[in-house]
Amino acid sequence: MTAAPERILVLLKPDAVERRLTGEILRRIEAKGYSLTALKLVVPTAEVLAAHYAEHVDKPFYPGVVEYMTRGPVVAVVVEGQRVVAGVRSLMGATDPTTAAPGTIRGDFGRDWGTDAIQNLVHGSDSPESAAREIAIWFPELGA
Ligand code: UDP
Ligand code: MG
Repeated sequence: MTAAPERILVLLKPDAVERRLTGEILRRIEAKGYSLTALKLVVPTAEVLAAHYAEHVDKPFYPGVVEYMTRGPVVAVVVEGQRVVAGVRSLMGATDPTTAAPGTIRGDFGRDWGTDAIQNLVHGSDSPESAAREIAIWFPELGA
């Protein structure tokens, strides 16, 4: 028996698009062996962002996150594979890109730019349950 594949919602944030790093980041996810099953380029609305970051809307850093995440397009991707949440979170590295491990996406390409929000190139759902919730927000047309 093979376990049903898991899904994760990945966002390539505005800094990843601006810096022409979307191909490199998707390359790493694909090279690890995961499948891209849905993908779109979209400028997030404040409403989508508030739903996505519901756990953070009351945090002091949230206004900075809105400014960061709505300043340009993001690439939203559904990625699939066994244990993909753990796998993609491992590829991403720690939230703070200055100290994220070298070899990770955030560690290799990110740093502190002195902005209110931490610009760290990529989002990945933190559990299969979060993934299901977030995929419904970014891909309502999938009806899943
Ligand atoms: N964030 C921030 N300041 C903070 C914590 C988080 O700007 O002190 C931003 C950052 O872009 C981060 C996102 O909010 O990626 C969500 O935070 P979380 O703690 O969920 O980190 P992640 O799961 O993205 O590693
Ligand atoms: Mg998170």
